[in-house]
Amino acid sequence: MITVNPYDRLMAKLVAYAKRNHLRMTPQRNAVLEICCNEPTPISTARLVLIAGERGISRPTVYNAIDTFVHAEILQCVGKAVDKKYRQYDFFFQKHTCIQLVCTRCGRISKIKDNNISKAIHNRQFNNFVMQHYTLTVYGKCKVCRSLLAKENISKNQEA
Ligand SMILES: [Zn+2]
Repeated sequence: MITVNPYDRLMAKLVAYAKRNHLRMTPQRNAVLEICCNEPTPISTARLVLIAGERGISRPTVYNAIDTFVHAEILQCVGKAVDKKYRQYDFFFQKHTCIQLVCTRCGRISKIKDNNISKAIHNRQFNNFVMQHYTLTVYGKCKVCRSLLAKENISKNQEA
């Protein structure tokens, strides 16, 4: 799977957000964004503080940067931790709704659209919760892996 570093795209988003909100661009905040883009996500606040600390960026600066990124819809909280220190952040998912199929053997991800499922989720009402968007992940085996596994089984049976 090829992953493109999202730094340029997210930096453009941050610049636009800063302009709209009359926010000054700071090298420290930019560095925190760069760390987010270079580390595997989700990334915890504690880890961000640790890595940013090695670059001489203070904890409050990291916390402020995270708040800004959340408001700018660059990051979103994906963990369950109430304590801010242990919160996990991932990049803000695309607002369009998405169903992804993940192969549990090779990790291949394919995205599909299904109007029936989309409709069902959009019509779903949640108690005290308003949905913004969703990602539905379906796990299984891709075509390539299924045929490889079938071949492995045939050769195993022939050895036996
Ligand atoms: Zn596979």
